[in-house]
Amino acid sequence: MEESSATGTIVTALAGGIGLLALMTLIYGTVLYRLGDRPRLRQLCLGLMFGAGGVAAMLQSVPILPGIYLDVKTVPVALAAPFGGPLAAVLAAGLVSAGRVAVGGAGMVSGVIGILAAGAAGLLVRRLVPVSGWRTARPLFILAPVAALHPLSIFVLPWEVALPIFVDGGLPIALFTVGGILMLGTMLGRERRRVDTEKMLRDAALSDPLTGLANRRAFFAAIDRTVSGALRHETPVSLLMLDIDHFKAVNDSRGHDAGDAVLVALSRLLQRSVRQSDMVARFGGEEFAILLPNAPIDGASLLAERLRCAVRDLAIAQDGAVLHVTASIGVSTLSAGTDRADAMIKAADMALYRAKQGGRDRVCRHQEAAVKEPVPVS
Ligand code: GH3
Ligand code: MG
Ligand code: MG
Repeated sequence: MEESSATGTIVTALAGGIGLLALMTLIYGTVLYRLGDRPRLRQLCLGLMFGAGGVAAMLQSVPILPGIYLDVKTVPVALAAPFGGPLAAVLAAGLVSAGRVAVGGAGMVSGVIGILAAGAAGLLVRRLVPVSGWRTARPLFILAPVAALHPLSIFVLPWEVALPIFVDGGLPIALFTVGGILMLGTMLGRERRRVDTEKMLRDAALSDPLTGLANRRAFFAAIDRTVSGALRHETPVSLLMLDIDHFKAVNDSRGHDAGDAVLVALSRLLQRSVRQSDMVARFGGEEFAILLPNAPIDGASLLAERLRCAVRDLAIAQDGAVLHVTASIGVSTLSAGTDRADAMIKAADMALYRAKQGGRDRVCRHQEAAVKEPVPVS
């Protein structure tokens, strides 16, 4: 009877432990995915997550001697640095230490020292192994034994007290730590690779491989979102359609590589000439769409004119030659007649067509005459 209840306790603890690992892995993946580009907030959330994981592990601890508990609270603490960063490690170690102090008991001081030692082990191994090394599970085989040394903290107690405790409790704690680090570390590593792959695929699906700009698909999603938001909040949105003039001639006379170099140089120019909240997308071969949230038509036309001049002044070095191009730009804005994304695109396209018809190297607004006189193409 007693034996079956002990087995029941172990099975319950094991099920709880596995559930905890699964939950931590799930939260880890979600935080990485959502906060990938906000490192501080990501580290903060992961620190809280690893800390909460350690405290939850403490709630499932098995008392082995008075004031001495067998649990895996140091596992998330040790993994916090390599999988969350230094800030996450400090936060996790702090939270779990606070939890251990709250539990109290004879092993409190050595317990806190052990937690801090596990955190330090994580920080140390993170420094020793380069970021690329963590793509495999190999560093876990370094971290696990290093972190498993933390039960040595029992020796802060007097020798004659510490030795029997260490013999009875130290070894199981070390083994649990090694097993826990290998298990949770493997799961977190897999999750990190999964999130990286998912992000890579998403980026590839939404960006243009030559220029790195947003592609047509990303542009359509963005303009739909922006137009809906602008209609809701009654804010302006404008759109520029920019097309390189006589680009075919660049390809024909200088070769396709030179054409590609022009596209890349122009993309960089456009990207650095607009605000962070604006979007530059490669709409087609040598046609770019520039979405300007919060820009009324006059501001958009001024920007278009500035871009036109900047393109004309751009000198592109290619195979010892210096290439120059010009561009024509059509401008449209969200208004009564163009109150949908597709209508705005069509209007900008029509304005661009007029700019081409008018002689190229110019800006045209939708339903208005060209805003500048023709300039000789260099
Ligand atoms: P217009 O002033 O009327 O716009 O004339 P254009 O020559 O610029 O326009 P056209 O549509 O006749 O030619 C566009 C050219 O762009 C043809 C196509 O081969 C080239 N092109 C499209 N995509 C790429 C690319 O990725 N790299 C290179 N090098 N050329 C490209
Ligand atoms: Mg063209
Ligand atoms: Mg074109």
